[in-house]
Amino acid sequence: MRVRHKPWADEFLEENSQIVIPSATQHKGNWRQLFGNDQPIFLEIGTGKGQFITGMAKQYPNINFIGIELNKNIIVDAVQKVVDSEQRNVRLINENAKDLREMFGDDEVNSIFLNFSDPWPKSRHEKRRLTFSSFLEQYEQVMTEQGEIVFKTDNKSLFEYSLVSFSQYGMELDEVVLDLHVLNDPTNVVTEYEEKFSLKGQPIYRCKTHFGRIKKSD
Ligand code: SAM
Repeated sequence: MRVRHKPWADEFLEENSQIVIPSATQHKGNWRQLFGNDQPIFLEIGTGKGQFITGMAKQYPNINFIGIELNKNIIVDAVQKVVDSEQRNVRLINENAKDLREMFGDDEVNSIFLNFSDPWPKSRHEKRRLTFSSFLEQYEQVMTEQGEIVFKTDNKSLFEYSLVSFSQYGMELDEVVLDLHVLNDPTNVVTEYEEKFSLKGQPIYRCKTHFGRIKKSD
């Protein structure tokens, strides 16, 4: 996706620092304190323009949502959606998720959502895929034992790769759906990319998975 440079982005993010949290590492282990409640924390990685996270926050007011998006020119749109929605259960982080363990303590996160992650089709870029084993290690550490990863994509190759990656890591697959929209799942909140690809008639794949074993750190 080509994204227009927005020269005002830094200033806008600073102005909205109660939503897009600067120096996220300072809140490691204390995110619930920042929300001012003890609700579960659901994390979305690669939040994009924020349609999913604001939709989820509205649907589930008893959950705290945190979205991580590395591109400041994109996250500004998500910030604006949070402001407009007036939802108090959403915070955003403008960082690369490769440093997740520096931002979250062990067991701090209850679920992780990966929506239409960049496919990085070249094998030399495999390590950048959000379902590569080094990312799974991080997810395992920050997530509770019962925690679930929900992964949606339109990209068949990335979906197949990810199913193998989850299985090789020892994760258990709870659900594998090859055409999500046929299900008419009322709990499904549609993302920007999902809307775009399904309008083109492309099937949407979804997988739910969990680590299903004693955590490595135990
Ligand atoms: N989730 C949105 C959706 O479904 O509409 C956006 C999908 S877009 C293809 C992927 C997004 O993930 C981009 O905005 C990109 O900047 C972000 N992203 C990719 N790798 C990331 C990483 N390592 N950490 C944080 N964000 C990342």
